[in-house]
Amino acid sequence: MEALTPLYEVNQALVAMGAEKLNLCMQCGMCAGSCPWRIVNGPFNVRKLIRMAQLGVEGYESADVLYGCTTCNKCVLKCPRGVTIIDVVKAMRAMIAETGAIPGVLRTVTGSVHSNGNPWSEPREKRTAWTQSLEVPSFDAGKEYFLSICCTSALDVRSQNIAKSMIKILSATGVSFGTIGNDENCCGESVRKIGDEELFSKTAEKNIKLFTNKGVKKIITTSPHCFYTFKFEYPNLGADFEVVHYTQLLTELLDKGKLNFSKPLNKKVTYHDPCYLGRHSQVYDEPRKLLSAVTGGNLVEMKRIRKESLCCGAGGGRLWMETKPEWRFSDLRIHEACETGAAILATACPYCISMLEDSRKTTNKEGDIEIRDISELIAEAL
Ligand code: SF4
Repeated sequence: MEALTPLYEVNQALVAMGAEKLNLCMQCGMCAGSCPWRIVNGPFNVRKLIRMAQLGVEGYESADVLYGCTTCNKCVLKCPRGVTIIDVVKAMRAMIAETGAIPGVLRTVTGSVHSNGNPWSEPREKRTAWTQSLEVPSFDAGKEYFLSICCTSALDVRSQNIAKSMIKILSATGVSFGTIGNDENCCGESVRKIGDEELFSKTAEKNIKLFTNKGVKKIITTSPHCFYTFKFEYPNLGADFEVVHYTQLLTELLDKGKLNFSKPLNKKVTYHDPCYLGRHSQVYDEPRKLLSAVTGGNLVEMKRIRKESLCCGAGGGRLWMETKPEWRFSDLRIHEACETGAAILATACPYCISMLEDSRKTTNKEGDIEIRDISELIAEAL
């Protein structure tokens, strides 16, 4: 916090970069009090970060300060002044990105999205490796839905089962759908959270053109991050698609009697609300309705749920960053899930699956609880 730069200039530059409500902050601390970093006593303090932005103070760009925020949205819902805190964080990161000084591990992510169309540093042609030995329909304008497979579900070995499960469910329920395959690109959510606005815009525009040329009208997403980006951010760049998260579509099918279970699960399950499905998009009921149906009402709740849910720690680019064991929110979540006595911790997000699977191992709970995506449970119960 040494050097005070021409503060008004930095402050106004941040406002111009999207931190429009920055100067409404009165430093009450409600944001920091609700932040998951407070629970783990970590180094990130959102109130202090906002103050640094207001004062135009430099020195916030270290990995655990500016890049600590997972964009979980809890603070935004608590702020009495309506400060859109994530916009402030994004503006600060965008300012750093313009100087090229983003942390190296995140530069690898943006570089891979630029050159491979995915953040996983995998060649584009590996995107459809998970489809081998499966019948996966290709999207064309005669199909009702384009099934968007998140980069993580396409390329991360654990998460590929989500993509496979979705194919099984949609095929069994007679939904008219298809995938685009290797031409599909990352939705760009991570690059935007990391602060590379230019790359986000280019990626989004490329996707909008691809989808429009293919005749896409309706999109099903496997990830809440793609869902939020397509539904709430792409329209600002001219997109006009109807977007659903898969839990919404499957609930509709359930209500219409088109989704039936011949092998319901006879296990107790608890549900972790992903931040971008819950707090960001207010989809709380559909995942619970599906879990209740697939387990015959065997859903139990953890103590922090819905808008109070505990973030898994993967959003805002944190999925690719190292987090010290004592600072991992997902470790706490595993303990909370085990306290319910559930045999399964279910969620509906590939990022959450990845974090929770890691924490299940590092907390030695592999024998106590399974981590499953809702799509996996439904595919098994069909
Ligand atoms: Fe500022 Fe809002 Fe945080 Fe209070 S809750 S310190 S007003 S950003």
